[in-house]
Amino acid sequence: GDELVRVTDLTKLFPVRRGRLVRRGAGAVRAVDGVGFAIDRGTTLGLVGESGSGKSTTGRLLSRLLEPTSGSVVFDGRDISHLSTRALRPLRRDIQMIFQDPYSSLNPRHTIGAIVAAPLRIQKQVPRGGVRARVRELLELVGLNPEHYNRYPNEFSGGQRQRIGIARALATRPKLIIADEPVSALDVSIRAQIINLLDGLRAEFGLTYLFIAHDLSMVRHISDRVAVMYLGQIIELADRTDLFSGALHPYTHALLSAVPIPDPASVRRRERIRLRDEVPSPLNPPVACRFHPRCWKAQEICRTEAPPLLARAPGHQVACHFPEKRAVV
Ligand code: SF4
Ligand code: MG
Repeated sequence: GDELVRVTDLTKLFPVRRGRLVRRGAGAVRAVDGVGFAIDRGTTLGLVGESGSGKSTTGRLLSRLLEPTSGSVVFDGRDISHLSTRALRPLRRDIQMIFQDPYSSLNPRHTIGAIVAAPLRIQKQVPRGGVRARVRELLELVGLNPEHYNRYPNEFSGGQRQRIGIARALATRPKLIIADEPVSALDVSIRAQIINLLDGLRAEFGLTYLFIAHDLSMVRHISDRVAVMYLGQIIELADRTDLFSGALHPYTHALLSAVPIPDPASVRRRERIRLRDEVPSPLNPPVACRFHPRCWKAQEICRTEAPPLLARAPGHQVACHFPEKRAVV
């Protein structure tokens, strides 16, 4: 396909201060550890994992809010992995982020008009006299009343605030939007509206998304491809339909078993997999297969050799010594 993004062997270490060392010798957390994927123009990659899996860090590396420790991020044909703050400035137009919490990501003392206009003023993309018109256009695009540009964030509901965040992200006509759990903080009843809005905007403007979520049900309708992360690594990557109809990794099976069933008639075929224990600390991840302490299929080799991420079918990669196709829905 026509790639907008290619991430190769991306790694981010965060140094750990002495007082917080879990054991001797652990000097850094490998928050993201050898991650690779591509996103085609105009498509959505869903990135799923529990908290601490490194998905937000991956999003920040991709948007270059963070600099990778090693590996590369190629955006629109250009390696942006180590660009300086100054060299990154024009790139801020092309890559925008939407955050999880629409309450804390909007300045309560600014009108929503000022909030949405801020990126336009910083990037000087629109002549001064045109900013107001563009703001109204953006508010309308996200389903808000353009007459409300003079109101403050606290006058809006959670869903409306996320629409304001989306309008702000769209202001600079970006190519890539990184949405970090954009619906997780919202009422279940309005999640679908926001996901549909994002999907419609993608189609209308040819946008490309990295859509981060902690559970598969949230990426199900919007993703073309889905990557599943566990403790800093991608453990499965596939087209959405292949993942939902034939996931190969036990961890993905467990995540899928928790997805609500759209068709209640199929409920009898569904067996909920309950994972034992919590996710281990990323400070001190298990050796070899990082999932082995929680895996019901673990064998000796799982505790001694890390399973590489390998293609088992066209476009379908998995990191498991014993992959097994399993349709869950
Ligand atoms: Fe489970 Fe082994 Fe596969 Fe890891 S490699 S997921 S422990 S079967
Ligand atoms: Mg996060």
